Amino acid sequence: MAKLEPLPGTSDVWPPETERWVFLENTARRVFALYGFAELRTPILERTDVFVRSIGTDTEVVQKEMYSFHDRGGRSLTLRPEGTAGVMRAIAHQGIMPGEEKRVFYGGPMFRGERPAAGRKRQFHQIGIEAVGKCNPAVDAECAMALLHFLDEIGVVQRRFLINSRGSGEDRKRAAGVLRDFFRPQAEGMCEDCQRRLDSNVWRILDCKNPQCHGIIAKAPPILEMFGADSQAFFLEVRRILDACGVEYQVAPHLVRGLDYYQHTVFEVVCDSPHLGAQNAIAGGGRYEIELPGSRKPIQGVGFAFGVERLLMALGEPASEAAAIGPAEVYVAAVGDGTLIIALELAEKLRRAGLRVCCENEQRSMKAQMRSADKSGAELALIIGQEEAAGDQLTIKYLRESRQLTLPGNEAKTVVLEWFGRNNA
Ligand code: AMP
Repeated sequence: MAKLEPLPGTSDVWPPETERWVFLENTARRVFALYGFAELRTPILERTDVFVRSIGTDTEVVQKEMYSFHDRGGRSLTLRPEGTAGVMRAIAHQGIMPGEEKRVFYGGPMFRGERPAAGRKRQFHQIGIEAVGKCNPAVDAECAMALLHFLDEIGVVQRRFLINSRGSGEDRKRAAGVLRDFFRPQAEGMCEDCQRRLDSNVWRILDCKNPQCHGIIAKAPPILEMFGADSQAFFLEVRRILDACGVEYQVAPHLVRGLDYYQHTVFEVVCDSPHLGAQNAIAGGGRYEIELPGSRKPIQGVGFAFGVERLLMALGEPASEAAAIGPAEVYVAAVGDGTLIIALELAEKLRRAGLRVCCENEQRSMKAQMRSADKSGAELALIIGQEEAAGDQLTIKYLRESRQLTLPGNEAKTVVLEWFGRNNA
């Protein structure tokens, strides 16, 4: 009799379990839409070099885990092991203008030839977002907040949000040198993979899953201390925004994440749910720079992905709910020094109150911001200029009427929430 069970590391998902999947997917779509992310679907099958070039040749995923094969035309193809590379390929193919930002949401099956275990599968499902085109700490913070907002909505409360930086440019080279000098004298005590990584990619040692190496890694110097002023400042700004928005996090001094393309901010959510075993990382992401074959310039972005199966394992029984996606309702504009962080804080509050908000993140001219406000589809623009910031005020501009008014901050928030029929939370 032919075997009817699914392949090892793969599963059939039956109702009512599928309803839990739909709840998760709908909540993700709804919450990420509040931050301006719209869905992009890319093929599951890509040319192998799409992944090799972006994920990095010396990563576990590329070296040991990819499902690659030659098709009848002799092309090397791969079932996607993660979502970011395919999204970048699609965006590079479509083209992105300098200074333009694309925000996309994606989801679907991923394939990795790992040893199956509880919470570790060969076909698993991820949902993720990518904000592509800008290198800006505000965007990193917004992505992290979108993830935490989503986890709040589905009820993942026993969690820790870990962040770190991998620096950029020369800082990365210098840090790699310091790490090499630290690990080389201890090479004999490390696993074979890490001995090889000493020369090929020393960062990967910090992410080694072999318990033999954990004691040595724990004593490695914190990466952040090896960075120069620019990388430090970028990370500090991300932290400053998270602090201002009331986000709790822990700096994890050795967090690097498994893929090579990360630089600057990296983050991970670990869940202390009793339903999860050793595989307790439920979501991870960070800022990256990806160079694709055939593309003229590397593409920068920030994003994250979470594993659907692992998240469902961590959860109890969530109720189901319908999705609601639309254009931005509010555009928050920041004009002048020191106003950006106030704008981001305000945007986060409004999103938490259920409004879809598009927020300025690079303090362009008023004219450019108003153009973006019109494009975003928002009905209201909330303007924080220097005067408003100094007087704890807000200017509300009604974009479909030619009027605006300036009110004290709290009063303005109430007016905005009432305009959209939301309670003042
Ligand atoms: P990564 O793409 O490795 O950064 O993983 C992001 C998230 O995907 C993890 O936090 C897990 O939730 C999930 N994930 C990664 N690999 C697997 C796997 N083999 N089986 C199930 N979930 C996975």
